[in-house]
Amino acid sequence: MSNDCIFCKIINGEFNTEFVYENEYVVVFKDINPKAKTHLLVVPRVHVESLNELEDKNLMSELLMAVKETTKKLGIKSYKTLINTGKEAGQEVFHLHIHILAD
Ligand code: AMP
Repeated sequence: MSNDCIFCKIINGEFNTEFVYENEYVVVFKDINPKAKTHLLVVPRVHVESLNELEDKNLMSELLMAVKETTKKLGIKSYKTLINTGKEAGQEVFHLHIHILAD
């Protein structure tokens, strides 16, 4: 947990955010500023700043499996996934996450 991280606060339940899907490793919630009809964020419970800091191979497996489980749960068959890494690439929140976008 990082004290000034908005996603850590969400994971910690500080904003009563509804989790569309969750398990031991991952939570999934709606993006506050959706860029598509469905715009979800798949976020590891552990604080990792970005893909550049990722060391745990299993964590990425868990994130991708959570993408699959979430889209399956919602009946979404076609979707895009996106990871922004670094400020210049558009990363705004420095807690690793995968966007799920579907229209
Ligand atoms: P990125 O630009 O890849 O870092 O994506 C960060 C995303 O987090 C953006 O699409 C924001 O709209 C979203 N976001 C920021 N704050 C919140 C929040 N409190 N709840 C849900 N989504 C958020």
